[in-house]
Amino acid sequence: LRNLKENQRTSKESLKTINIANKENSISEMRLDYGPLSRRPAPLDLDLDYDYFLNTISKGRRPAELRELTSLIAKLPPDAIKFGVGVPNGSTFPFKEIKVTLKDNSVAVIDGERLAEALQYLPSSGMASLISTLKDVQDRVHGTQDWTKRNIIITAGAQEGLCKVVEMVVEPGDAVILQNPVYTGVLDCFRPYQCEYIAVDMDQDGMRPDILREMLADRKREQKPMPKIMYVNPTAANPCGVTLSEERKREIYQLACEYNFLILEDDPYYYLGFDETYPVSFLSMDTEGRVLRCDSFSKILSSGLRLGFVTGPMPLLRRLELHMQVSTLHASALSQVVLYQLLKKWGFEGLREHFAGIKKFYRQKRDLMIAAAQKHLTGLAEWNNPSGGMFLWLRVKGIDDARSLVTKRCVDNNLVCAPGYVFMADGNKPCPYMRLSFSLCSAEQIDMGISRLARLIREEQLA
Ligand code: PMP
Repeated sequence: LRNLKENQRTSKESLKTINIANKENSISEMRLDYGPLSRRPAPLDLDLDYDYFLNTISKGRRPAELRELTSLIAKLPPDAIKFGVGVPNGSTFPFKEIKVTLKDNSVAVIDGERLAEALQYLPSSGMASLISTLKDVQDRVHGTQDWTKRNIIITAGAQEGLCKVVEMVVEPGDAVILQNPVYTGVLDCFRPYQCEYIAVDMDQDGMRPDILREMLADRKREQKPMPKIMYVNPTAANPCGVTLSEERKREIYQLACEYNFLILEDDPYYYLGFDETYPVSFLSMDTEGRVLRCDSFSKILSSGLRLGFVTGPMPLLRRLELHMQVSTLHASALSQVVLYQLLKKWGFEGLREHFAGIKKFYRQKRDLMIAAAQKHLTGLAEWNNPSGGMFLWLRVKGIDDARSLVTKRCVDNNLVCAPGYVFMADGNKPCPYMRLSFSLCSAEQIDMGISRLARLIREEQLA
């Protein structure tokens, strides 16, 4: 191993050349032009004491030596003799080629070396050429990043990234900051740690920094343990469809610097915001290396591909990688190759066109849902206009708790909605909210469903 590492050091110069060549290739091949959205690079310092953020489990992780070997071997010349590698021989696999036909009938055939790559183990951080392509994407969307200090790890969806970040940072009983209401999937990550929630209420511009500032100042004054991490789902938040404004993001980022906490930016609806422009992300303003950003391909290409990626400061991503080395090993190689082929074929322009189509699709559904709500629910419920995504967040009037309405009366009447309490930091309190998704329903179903809901709310109010 030591020799291999030595070998890698001595061939560093040539590797550099290969990386640069790859990068140039991917840029020119893919015509990654993100036009006016491209922002100036943010300088990045890595002066934080990252050990402060890591929990005992994460600090105890050591490189899985044979996984490290996989990364090294990927960089060795093809004629290297690989006695050390415990992988199956690809020639014994039954696949000859994998053909992906897109809806425009264009075909991508995965064969030869790409097929071999798709069928074999990968380094834990993911497929090198895909990572380099995703770096290009991040540069164009969030401003040119310093990739000597920041990195990307490909995960099985954003969820794996979220969960692993939580498992890297949180100790039992820790205080954590989150927006309220909040994505229930992250509450499920925090739950086993019995965290104390510093739950920050939201309005139409997202999480309120004034409340957060006050809560943090109070905690400090009362000498309570300070949070090491904040979870935020900034664009078209699940469940309430609200987008955090740029001004508030800047204020919250300042608080993160002042009170020294990490920002877990979970942004799977980023490309599904209904505005013409894409929001300025926490990542793009991160000069101190305290943002871990989770992106996802679930809502924009396919949730079954199970692909997402985390962008963040190298010291923290290395800890995530060590966790990957002993858990997933890596996100599906086949999915990564399919994604890479698609990005290569479309370029970023093609991807943007695709996003525009999806946005239009969900915007139309949102409009239908709002129209149906205005027609049937006026006086019975209140709602906001979702700025993106696929959810309407509804407060039922005249009842304190919508739990039995949603989980019993609606289900008995063939209407499935999500009860609001599952998205609340304190899920034990009565909660008059519910979440309706407009993703899967036709125009007729939306109208029929909302009209049925109106009847059921009336019944519940009288019960
Ligand atoms: N974060 C949020 C806010 C979500 O709504 C979801 C999907 N429901 C996820 C993360 C997980 O997404 P993925 O499929 O990429 O794991």
